Amino acid sequence: MFPFRGVDYMEIDSLLSDQEKLVRQTVRDFIDREVLPHIEDWNREAKFPRHLVPLMAEMGLFGANLEGYGCPGMSNVEYGLIMQELERGDGGLRSFVSVQGALVMYPIHQYGSDEQKRRWLPALHEGRALGCFGLTEPDFGSNPAGMRTRAVKSGGEYVLNGEKAWITSGTIADVALVWARAEDGIRGFLVEKGTPGFTSKDIKGKWSLRASVTSTLALQDVRVAASSVLPGVAGLKGPLSCLTQARYGIGWGVIGAAMACYNEALEYAKVRKQFDDKPIASHQLVQEKFADMITEITKAQLLALQVGRLKDRGRADFAHVSMIKRNNVRMALDVARAARDILGANGVADEYPIFRHMCNLESVITYEGTHNIHTLIIGERVTGIPAYK
Ligand SMILES: Cc1cc2nc3c(=O)[nH]c(=O)nc-3n(C[C@H](O)[C@H](O)[C@H](O)COP(=O)(O)OP(=O)(O)OC[C@H]3O[C@@H](n4cnc5c(N)ncnc54)[C@H](O)[C@@H]3O)c2cc1C
Repeated sequence: MFPFRGVDYMEIDSLLSDQEKLVRQTVRDFIDREVLPHIEDWNREAKFPRHLVPLMAEMGLFGANLEGYGCPGMSNVEYGLIMQELERGDGGLRSFVSVQGALVMYPIHQYGSDEQKRRWLPALHEGRALGCFGLTEPDFGSNPAGMRTRAVKSGGEYVLNGEKAWITSGTIADVALVWARAEDGIRGFLVEKGTPGFTSKDIKGKWSLRASVTSTLALQDVRVAASSVLPGVAGLKGPLSCLTQARYGIGWGVIGAAMACYNEALEYAKVRKQFDDKPIASHQLVQEKFADMITEITKAQLLALQVGRLKDRGRADFAHVSMIKRNNVRMALDVARAARDILGANGVADEYPIFRHMCNLESVITYEGTHNIHTLIIGERVTGIPAYK
């Protein structure tokens, strides 16, 4: 296996600093060394590679763009490049890191009490504790405002009842950030593994993100101290602001999946021969696919970089992030499908990474706001008219 050298048609590397390229190279080498030789086995066995947690922690990948509590305070572009390289390895691995950093550490960092920050942020950053984010319910996905999970105050405690579905890292998490409807609106609760009445179970039989754990959470009369609520936020803006962080990372991550598929298809097309002993890369219809793929990857790279630079200047908002999530995931899925086609029958075999990326992207286009929901967010931004209902 040759080291990955990147996909850069438009000299986009010239827009990156040496530090940004160094961060990218570190994660790139890690993926080439520790992930790619084994990922098809883990995917086949539906195994989350937990042994990689300490290695990723050592590189500072959990909460990489947060400051304080031991976190490295990297720029948002550096963070995006990390996500890109992780997802070039596998979307399941990137999902795990996204949840740990953007959906668990970020809300604690942003809205937590000093005690919550001191207790959880160093442990989550160092990979000594794992987290999950419980927003989706069996009957409420795109519209979390309807959630049924309840938190009722009882003396110095809250009593939680409800069910969460499709929760990444649910059964392996030491702490679950559970969003529940309380008297004063939707609030976030830090619920520790082992709390009586709190159980989790893995969802089996996924054809997508198989190297990532996805679970249901059940809360039956779960009593947590009032100090476990995130004090800094009430209402749907709490979970939605976390999703903006994670969606930003996804917008970068999927470029990695697209690069992996594009590269694999290109190498294949140069050596696979059909008709007059000519490589399939020499056929015009195949070249058209490559022209489309590289153009779309390049546009996605520029979009992600611009949102990253805006975010580093404090100028990126959720509607900007919706555009990179929506455009780049669709782009990656289209690239994966075209690449699969170029490999013919071999494209459906897990000897090659393409079908795995393609299946992973089917989840990525659904989670963190479906493609349709991001269409509506962008539509509302440009027209001023919400069209969700
Ligand atoms: C592998 C995986 C991991 C996940 N991890 C997490 C996690 O860690 N934490 C978490 O909380 N959730 C997680 N999710 C859940 C995910 O966020 C939801 O699946 C997603 O929000 C969509 O909800 P839904 O599946 O209920 O689909 P629905 O909301 O039922 O949507 C079904 C379809 O209807 C469309 N639709 C819905 N409303 C509208 C509308 N107004 N206009 C047009 N179209 C509409 C949608 O776009 C979609 O095509 C995960 C999901 C997957 C697959």
